[in-house]
Amino acid sequence: MTTSTKPARKRNTVSVIDLFSIGIGPSSSHTVGPMRAAQALIEDLGVQPAKVRVELRGSLAATGVGHGTDRAVLLGLVGYTPTTTSADIAPKPGEPISPEGVIEGPTGEVAYEMVFNPLPVAEHPNCLVFDAWDADGTQLVSGKEYFSIGGGFILDRAGMEKHRNETGVAAVAHTDAVPYPFDTGADLVRICNKTGLTIAEVMRANEEHIHSRTELDAHLDAVWDVMQECVAHGLKTEGTLPGGLNVRRRANRLHRLLTAEYEASTARGLDAMEWVNLYALAVNEENAAHGQVVTAPTNGAAGIIPAVMHYCRDFTDDFDRERAHEFLLTAGAIGAIIKTNASISGAEVGCQGEVGSASSMAAAGMCAILGGTPAQVENAAEIALEHNLGLTCDPVGGLVQVPCIERNAIGGVKAINAARLAKLGDGTNIVTLDDVIETMASTGHDMMTKYKETSMGGLAVQLGLPVSITEC
Ligand code: SF4
Repeated sequence: MTTSTKPARKRNTVSVIDLFSIGIGPSSSHTVGPMRAAQALIEDLGVQPAKVRVELRGSLAATGVGHGTDRAVLLGLVGYTPTTTSADIAPKPGEPISPEGVIEGPTGEVAYEMVFNPLPVAEHPNCLVFDAWDADGTQLVSGKEYFSIGGGFILDRAGMEKHRNETGVAAVAHTDAVPYPFDTGADLVRICNKTGLTIAEVMRANEEHIHSRTELDAHLDAVWDVMQECVAHGLKTEGTLPGGLNVRRRANRLHRLLTAEYEASTARGLDAMEWVNLYALAVNEENAAHGQVVTAPTNGAAGIIPAVMHYCRDFTDDFDRERAHEFLLTAGAIGAIIKTNASISGAEVGCQGEVGSASSMAAAGMCAILGGTPAQVENAAEIALEHNLGLTCDPVGGLVQVPCIERNAIGGVKAINAARLAKLGDGTNIVTLDDVIETMASTGHDMMTKYKETSMGGLAVQLGLPVSITEC
């Protein structure tokens, strides 16, 4: 535990509780965020509307059906949340949803009309526009916009304008005063060197100025529990993933194979890596099946951090709950820096923002578990992110399956390699984490829209399969 007597400064802070949230698959920006937008609409109205018209714009229209965006919005309108929704609630994942109808849920029923408009809104590729009426036909709201900006975070137009206009302001941030404010990797290492605290201790000290210690620890425990439950469920489930690509789940068979081989194996050179692959596949298959996962920091990249944490649990000493907290807090600090200075959204910067960010966060968490210094941890995060630069987002058929599931396995292994490379170094580097984050942001800015979660380029069209839209 760390306490500080220094005066608190006010600064925007991205909390680990927001970065790691428990939700449903398959996409944080296209499933969790839109569901939260529907919830936010109801909260902002203050009453349950009788009728809602929702227009899904840009990428939400382009890949929304594959991501279950329509289902998520409808369930969000009638009281379901990402933590209370399961794949068993109707309409079930993959079931066709009529563009008009009535949806029922815990808070009643709502008549709806849903429009898919692939034309993006200028401010962001993922936008939902709502109109709502009461039972008498009186219009409650017109053209109310919410933007799903990645990682399950949403903003209304005012929040979006603030986010865009204020340089360095994280998309979603707490303005509570924290004892150790940091915006960059350089800030973070400087604070650690000055105070003698680890990155996890700095993060905890800040978090405990936003949340109570009980709330923080309960959330970290829940995150680690759901990650392990998700892996366990993924390992025992067979079958084909929904969406029409007919992708077969592999984790179950691989687990049986690996267990048998592991028991008999005498040459275990790469066994650990195979388990990392397995854990990542299990999580991302659950995600693709619209199961419960931890957004870490997005759903598309949800397998990387759990896979590396499972690796630490199984292949390092003394990985208990305290170490799991240390891992998550360290990874969260890196995620907060990336989110503040670039993006964790595939729709904004391509897959480098999703898989790259998760790999960077996992590398940092693992390096800390290995006993790395703050400089080595920063180095680990930098290495992992650097070698994901330029990674495009091109999900085949608009589904978070190909290349996403395997990409998480590769991202997990890359994170472990980065952590080990950094731990063997002296913490100095020519390219800093901040350099790489800036490069990721500019690369993402220059990346053509077709490579940013639209399923209009790359593998998504290379395979000759139909895409979900014909114009952008
Ligand atoms: S390719 Fe990457 S960014 Fe795109 S949906 Fe898949 S995991 Fe997410």
